[in-house]
This record gives sequence, C-alpha cells and structure tokens, in this order.
Amino acid sequence: MKISRRAERVTPSLTLELTARAKKMKAEGRDVVSFGAGEPDFNTPDYIVEAAEKALKEGKTKYTPASGIPELKKAIADKLKRDNGLDYEPSQIVVSNGAKHSLTNAFAALLDEGDEVIVPAPYWLTYPELIGLFGGSAKIVETKKENGFKLTASELTAAITPRTRAIVLNNPNNPTGAVYTKEELFALAEVLEPTDIAIVSDEIYETLNYTGREIVSIATYSEKIKERTILVNGVSKTYAMTGWRIGFTASPANVAKAMSNVQSHMTSNPNTVAQYAALAAYASPEGEKFLAEMSASFSRRRSLIEGELDKIGGIDYVKPDGAFYVLVDVRGLMGKRVKGKEICSAQRLAELLLEEKETVVIPCESFGANGFVRLSYAISDDDIVKGVRRLGEFVSELD
Ligand code: PLP
Repeated sequence: MKISRRAERVTPSLTLELTARAKKMKAEGRDVVSFGAGEPDFNTPDYIVEAAEKALKEGKTKYTPASGIPELKKAIADKLKRDNGLDYEPSQIVVSNGAKHSLTNAFAALLDEGDEVIVPAPYWLTYPELIGLFGGSAKIVETKKENGFKLTASELTAAITPRTRAIVLNNPNNPTGAVYTKEELFALAEVLEPTDIAIVSDEIYETLNYTGREIVSIATYSEKIKERTILVNGVSKTYAMTGWRIGFTASPANVAKAMSNVQSHMTSNPNTVAQYAALAAYASPEGEKFLAEMSASFSRRRSLIEGELDKIGGIDYVKPDGAFYVLVDVRGLMGKRVKGKEICSAQRLAELLLEEKETVVIPCESFGANGFVRLSYAISDDDIVKGVRRLGEFVSELD
C-alpha cells in the first residue's frame, strides 16, 4: 500500500535493532549489561499509586475535558508558581499523554509548511521527526564540546533566518546531561526577545539537576519571552511515572486553545486515572522527599560512572550536570579494529561492543552526535561498574 510522504520521512530507529538483539541475548541467559535505559529505575512512589487506586475505586473512569481535569491544571499552575516563579492560569495548561505528546501538540500549533525550527545538537532524536511530521524543517545547529554542548548567543544569532519560526531548548539535556546556567540561558533569551521566534522549552528533566544551583526556565526572563514560550514538562522522569503517560504544556492562552483543539480530535483527554495520579504527584508534600532521594541516588551514580570512565584511555566525555546520561566521545576509536572488524561509526562500535562484551550503549548518530555514544546510569551500581569495565576491556583490546 502507498505510504504518505509525511510518514515515509520518519526515520526508523537505529537503536531498535540493537536493543532487540540485546533482549534476545538476555533471553538466552547471557549476562547483558544495558546502558540504554531512558527512564528512572525507581517505582512510582506509593502515595501516587494509592491515589490512582482511589480514583479507580471512585469510578473516575470516564472521559474528562480534553485538556485535562481542572484540579490537575490548577495543581500544575501551582507547581509552576512554586518551583519556577511563573504565573499561569489553569486555562493556559494543557495536559497530554506524556511530554512527547505535548511536544507533538506544540509543533502542530506552531508550524506551517516550510517553517524552520532551530534544534541545537546533540538533541533528543524525536524533535526533528516531529518537526518534519508537521511540515517544518529542523535547522540543526552544532554546539561545541568545549562549551559543554550548550548553545551560545552567537551560534543562535548566526542560525536565525527569515524562516525561523521556533527554537527547541532542552534543559537539562538528553543526551548530553548539560544544564544551562541562568546567565547562559538568559543570553539566548536576549537574542530571542526582539524576534517573533517561539520557544519550545523542554524541561522534562528539571528535577534531575546535580549542580547545586537553581535551574531556571527561559520563560522567567521577561513577560515578552514568556508570551512566546511553550513550556513542556511532565511527571515521567520527575516522579518515575514514564508508563503513566502524563505531560503538560504551559503557554499563552491562544496557543493552549489551539493545542487543546488539536488534542480533542487526536486523542481526547489523557488517561483519566493517570491524571488523578499526576494530581497527587504535584499536589502532595510527599513528593519532596521522593525527589530528594531520587536526585541523591542519581548524583551518586553519576560520580560512580565518571570514576569508572576516567580509568579508560582513548575515550572522553563532558561531565554531565543533569538527567541520567553521559555522552561519551568515541571518535578517537574510529578506524580501530576488533578481531579484524573496523569501527567506522558509533553505531558499529555499539554493535561490536554488544557482540564482544555483551554491553549495550546507545549510538548517537540520530541524536545529532556522530562519533558519540550515550550511557544511561539509571541502572544498578554493579551494572555500572561491570559495564564500564567491559567497555574499558573492549577499548584496550582494539588494534
Ligand atoms: N523530552 C525529552 C528530552 C526526553 O528525553 C523524553 C523521554 O525520553 C521526553 C521528552 C518524553 O517524555 P514522556 O515520556 O513524558 O513523553
């Protein structure tokens, strides 16, 4: 059957085959270590699960307003005030099926055919795909390793064209773990303020910030910037709720209305029970304790993985400040060989590492980072140590 040009443009996932192979090896009883995790290895806290059980028992199983229940929108507006110092009316909040769906709505509301969206690289691989699906074109802007993979004001200025409709900023960043300082972020806001460029600010890893300094949203820069920002966040990473599928946007009222309209036809409301779970997540004071524990645990594992990586020669990485990923530079290994097989790309390295050492890393070609692999440290201490040591052996055995 004929496939639409739009669907045909979607890139198949490079990592799917790799993770499927790793799964098969595991099923065969092999001791595979996977650095592929894209989610916290914590269970959703009990108080949230209990709120969902209660909602179910109370028969909260019907449709809700498409953009979410009013209580949850109010709790999100309160969260944005409390944690981010931002004033939003509940009517400016749209609750969706995960932050990925929120981003989908954002691009649906923003883009016309041919519009450009600035995407600083390395980026989360979904952005260019969504932009393309809505007729836009992703303008990939390389950031520099020596700048910690953070976009600078001059790089941004140089990337703007008359067709620039929006920019996506992801802070903390997947896959680099970079966290912008307030000054760095505000330098970008200063460039953007006199333009009419919309800002899609993906803050999904907001609470996973190990810098000790406050993380700010670009929307706090000025009222003008806030009026052009679609802030995206959700419960997935913050409350270990990836499977519940609740994300949200906070945006100017007309954009919220447009996104809500789109959503009302595409999916209707996000899962009703999950909305009540998210309400508990945001509204209960018990969340604080969980967040502190999870953040401390990731911060400790970050030090562990860094210490292990530091023992390996021939590779390099930029110390991550947030999320739960380390982006490892393996460009120095290109051209080397394992049992006669040449490493010609990060993808090939990942395949050979799995074959030879039963260890999964994510090659980052589709994250706009050729010659890099991503390691997630949302796994056990033992696996971190075992897996990085295997990587070390692999590197030391190369010809
Ligand atoms: N944004 C970034 C940068 C992510 O890494 C992810 C998930 O990996 C998402 C958004 C999607 O979050 P959700 O699971 O809420 O759709």
